[in-house]
Amino acid sequence: MDIAIIGAGINGLCIGWELAKAGHGVTIYERDTVVAHTSSASSKLLHGGLRYLENGEFRLVAEALQERQAWFHRAPTLAKPLRLTLPIYRHSRRGRPLIALGLWLYDRLARSRQTPNHTWLSAAEVVAQLPELQPQGLRGAFQFWDGQMDDRQLGHWVAEQTRQAGATLLERTPVAAVSPDGRLRLTDGAEMHYDQVINAAGPWARHLLRTSAIDSRHDLDLVRGSHLVLNRPCRDACILEVPDDQRIFFVLPWQQGTLVGTTEVREDHPPGAAPTPPQPSAAEIDYLLRAYNHYFTQPAGHQDIRTTFAGLRPLVKSAADPSRATREYVLERHGQLTTVFGGKWTTACALARKVRQQVEKATPVALPVSTKGTTGGPEPTPRHANAR
Ligand SMILES: Cc1cc2nc3c(=O)[nH]c(=O)nc-3n(C[C@H](O)[C@H](O)[C@H](O)COP(=O)(O)OP(=O)(O)OC[C@H]3O[C@@H](n4cnc5c(N)ncnc54)[C@H](O)[C@@H]3O)c2cc1C
Repeated sequence: MDIAIIGAGINGLCIGWELAKAGHGVTIYERDTVVAHTSSASSKLLHGGLRYLENGEFRLVAEALQERQAWFHRAPTLAKPLRLTLPIYRHSRRGRPLIALGLWLYDRLARSRQTPNHTWLSAAEVVAQLPELQPQGLRGAFQFWDGQMDDRQLGHWVAEQTRQAGATLLERTPVAAVSPDGRLRLTDGAEMHYDQVINAAGPWARHLLRTSAIDSRHDLDLVRGSHLVLNRPCRDACILEVPDDQRIFFVLPWQQGTLVGTTEVREDHPPGAAPTPPQPSAAEIDYLLRAYNHYFTQPAGHQDIRTTFAGLRPLVKSAADPSRATREYVLERHGQLTTVFGGKWTTACALARKVRQQVEKATPVALPVSTKGTTGGPEPTPRHANAR
């Protein structure tokens, strides 16, 4: 099939890679450049998402843990295991038994031989390992494993794999409208026709449907997340509760500095208006500094901030509280058009496999001999027959 993908964020790229490997002709249209938006503004974690267990998202956590391992295998120099410390204080809202249960489940779901199971450290052991952590009220800490990557670098690596698999990647090529019969119109007026079109425009996916006059059953909850990078080294990655809040935040080693994040601020855009790339607000920066200073004995101020950045989570609309909104993804079909709602960086390849299954189920297709693993059969389809 000839397939067009809109968006070269991690979801669009992984879908393109998966479909090109299966022998389809793939063209990816990106309005800006590869991973220029949400996919380079993440917390840089390849993780199952321990906190999603609280929301009962067991399927998602199990899949994300498997995908975390898959990234370690796929790109071992760019995706690495990361040990996280989760301190428990006298005032912690989640006590030791609850966290122990969550981590026991996390280890079971991960079924990983590459990362060790979680451990418990006494308060004295924590202080010896992380002397910069506030010792007052400290009861001890759990240590467990997830993964870390440079989202921009890994995203560019995926883009290169996608190209090598035969896909065409067109940057600075915005799509103005799509249609359920496989048509696609660029902003310069050019019109093309494909066997299948995949709308992977992330936070802009719903807007693209609206401007194409297509109703959808699902909606997006656009939730801004901000980070700051402090100009100081970070010895150990920590996951901590925001004081006076149910939320958690991360303190992570990042490019010889310390990455602190993130926030969850719902963005409302007037109907019909395209979401604009977000900026961290002064209130979010103060919130993150306050949270950091609550736990670390050497306080950080504005003068310690190297840089800040923000991204817009394209979450499937599901809950009043953005913290509780599902991190699952949903595929919605309109004829030959499939739209991706939601998703995580970590699970982008799992999502891509589901898109491929859905697309191939929709239209009977003769694949090239090499990808079918059989001899004989139909002539290979051209690698990229391009748009009709
Ligand atoms: C603050 C924050 C922290 C996060 N942390 C993590 C984490 O640690 N681990 C994790 O697994 N996930 C994390 N996520 C989630 C993850 O980053 C996102 O789920 C993922 O990056 C979404 O990718 P995407 O491809 O759907 O969207 P995007 O990366 O935004 O890509 C969509 C692309 O579509 C393009 N586009 C839009 N409209 C058009 C058009 N009309 N024509 C052509 N192109 C178009 C855009 O330019 C953009 O490049 C985080 C998200 C945020 C916001």
